[in-house]
Amino acid sequence: MKLVWFRRDLRVKDNPALHEACKTGEPTIALYTATPEQWKQHDLSPRQADFIQRRLEVLRNDLAALNIPLLFKVVDDFSGLPAYLAEVCQQYQVSDVYCNIDYEFDEVDRDNAVAGTLSLTRTGFHAFHGKCILPPGSVLTGGGKSFQVFTPFKRAWLKLVQSTDYSPVKPPLPISPTALTKALIEDAKEIDLRYWYEDSVSWPVDDNTIIQRLRDYCSYRVTSYDALRDIPSEPATSQLSAYLAIGAISPRQCLARLLTEHPNAFDDSKQGPQVWLSELIWREFYQHVTASNPSLSKGKACLSWESNIEWKHDEILFERWKQGKTGVPIVDAGMRQLNETGWMHNRLRMIVASFLVKDLHIDWRWGERYFMQKLIDGDFAANNGGWQWSASVGLDAQPYFRIFNPFTQSKKFDPEGIFIRRWVKELENIPEKFIHDPYHKNYGSDVSLSYPKPIVDHALRERRHFPFSKLPRIT
Ligand code: FAD
Repeated sequence: MKLVWFRRDLRVKDNPALHEACKTGEPTIALYTATPEQWKQHDLSPRQADFIQRRLEVLRNDLAALNIPLLFKVVDDFSGLPAYLAEVCQQYQVSDVYCNIDYEFDEVDRDNAVAGTLSLTRTGFHAFHGKCILPPGSVLTGGGKSFQVFTPFKRAWLKLVQSTDYSPVKPPLPISPTALTKALIEDAKEIDLRYWYEDSVSWPVDDNTIIQRLRDYCSYRVTSYDALRDIPSEPATSQLSAYLAIGAISPRQCLARLLTEHPNAFDDSKQGPQVWLSELIWREFYQHVTASNPSLSKGKACLSWESNIEWKHDEILFERWKQGKTGVPIVDAGMRQLNETGWMHNRLRMIVASFLVKDLHIDWRWGERYFMQKLIDGDFAANNGGWQWSASVGLDAQPYFRIFNPFTQSKKFDPEGIFIRRWVKELENIPEKFIHDPYHKNYGSDVSLSYPKPIVDHALRERRHFPFSKLPRIT
């Protein structure tokens, strides 16, 4: 018997571990282990938990069509997994376990512990790369080191990918059923992750819808990605991040579809398909960085100068930011979109992160955690990378003093205030001229607003840019 252990790869298509197990033609079972205590520590958002739970039902049906039963078990945390996997392998006489690799520190530890325990009974443990287009460790500098900056990484990635077979693996063929696999499929119990949930139904989980979303995106909207991707009121981005985060779709599927529609996507022009590919490469970059820097998973900044920064730990300001009540409309619109939907437009993620760190001077780790608690697409590598970039403590070619002016950003990317009005109802009727800054001195002092006044004066903060003024400048 073979066993496929599912984690953040909740799909049947382009799943290297499943593909390899099925290739043997032997009876196969699948397993998903929920670890709610571990998830609490990692701040898994209740919305993503609901999303995973719903996706597991789809996966179970897809696997049943291949005559593979999906077993399900709640184990408090990772420490209970080696013993549990050993028990399952013994119970079902499993000779080999197959899985796709997660690159975060605790996950690598988890797999090492499980592989070690299984080796005691000579059970094989086979791990595959299914999370990236090019696996971590394959894109290296001329000196064989990991890249620390995105642009040269992208250049090397583009060169390597074109000499690599990046096509998705073929869908597995059904395996001959046995009395045991049939019985396990019939016996399937309700899946309950024993976590708390928040409604994620606006994110469909069936394959047809997800694949159609990818196809439609690559056929039509991707062509205007370069022009519209920074406008939050436009549905110009793919909104595939939630699916990529739980592995309901693979990055290789995304690349394959993009190239089918736009065979020139690898060229170095700056059109929609090329720019979209660049974002997929950002995703790869952060996965590779996570794999090569285990300390990131322990809250460490990439750049050591962070030790010079004295973060403020102001709970009241932090609460106002979380609730979208900072008095800065574009920041509040973004935070309210996050709180209500579990997703936030990328431009706004950068604006609200910069505001928390550079205007409120609050530790980026607080923001990173809050995002993970709320995001439906929460992904350690992308989130940690995004926060470190925004706090200027990450791997970034720009010097530390990049500070977003939220009012300028607002005028540039939401000029008519369409997005602000959608999320900040108190400002629905404000004239366009003042939508970005409703407490501007020229806007009648007799106007009474139910919207809060700004909790900080951006201009003042920017001039002082404490605590960043203490930092050395990158040359
Ligand atoms: P598209 O614009 O359509 O891009 C396609 C795909 O490329 C995305 O689905 C995503 O997988 C990837 N991608 C796009 N931009 C980035 C990026 N900057 N970094 C890494 N991958 C990228 N993304 C997450 O998936 N999970 C997170 O937890 C997350 N946290 C973030 C936190 C901060 C502070 C910042 C600044 C960015 C964060 N991002 C995160 C990256 C980015 O905001 C989202 O991937 C993007 O908004 C998702 O929308 P989309 O699917 O429509 O993306």
